Amino acid sequence: ATYLINSKWYIVYNDTEPRQRSRFTVAHELGHILLGHIMCDKHYARTFDTSRPTIEQEADVFAARLLAPACVLWALNVHTPQDISELCDISLAAAQVRSERMEILYSRNKFLQSPLEKAVYDNFKEYIQKQTAK
Ligand SMILES: [Zn+2]
Repeated sequence: ATYLINSKWYIVYNDTEPRQRSRFTVAHELGHILLGHIMCDKHYARTFDTSRPTIEQEADVFAARLLAPACVLWALNVHTPQDISELCDISLAAAQVRSERMEILYSRNKFLQSPLEKAVYDNFKEYIQKQTAK
């Protein structure tokens, strides 16, 4: 969960969960913050209204895009859930969902069309070159 207390954000997660799950949870919470989701008052702090399935889905999509950017998977020709899980350090379950989405994106083959995606790609360019040189 994420709380806004005295103008500071606090992401609270269970650090006894596997690292991959924790990474996704923190990325999901960052999604709520950065997507500007509507907050509600809880008894001791303001937090996100998790009763709205739409914002939960948006935060999940944000997390998947942050941790497993499509243009990077495409550049490295990564397809399987196992490979996505290993490369992006996300759970196999999350990688399965990402893999299904990637297959749609691969069939469309419209990577690097938007300036934002090009910027992401440029940030990963050196990494991609190192990976493909192996
Ligand atoms: Zn959430």
